[in-house]
Amino acid sequence: MEKKKLKELQNKLLDMKNDILEDVASENKRFEEEKEVESYAEEYDLANSILENNLRENLEENDYKLLKQIEKALNRIDDGTYEVCEVCGKEIELERLTMIPYATKCARCAKKKE
Ligand SMILES: [Zn+2]
Repeated sequence: MEKKKLKELQNKLLDMKNDILEDVASENKRFEEEKEVESYAEEYDLANSILENNLRENLEENDYKLLKQIEKALNRIDDGTYEVCEVCGKEIELERLTMIPYATKCARCAKKKE
């Protein structure tokens, strides 16, 4: 891969990482604000509240997983193994990395697992 392209993907990964960290920060802020409202609103719909909490937990879990994948990809760039499929050791398609910059498997291996 060209150095320029690699740098581009690295920046993309860093942007994604920042987005997630910002999301998590604003989620936490929202949660704090909600807690304050909840303590005053006695007629708060409990069912909706539970649904909200589940949604938030799922989102955070997905964010967390994605964050780990992004960090792994950034480490792989540092190691010089970014383009190497972690399953078969062949090169990951550039097209695939452009679409999914945190991919660690080639298209064939990713398909096999699904
Ligand atoms: Zn592979």
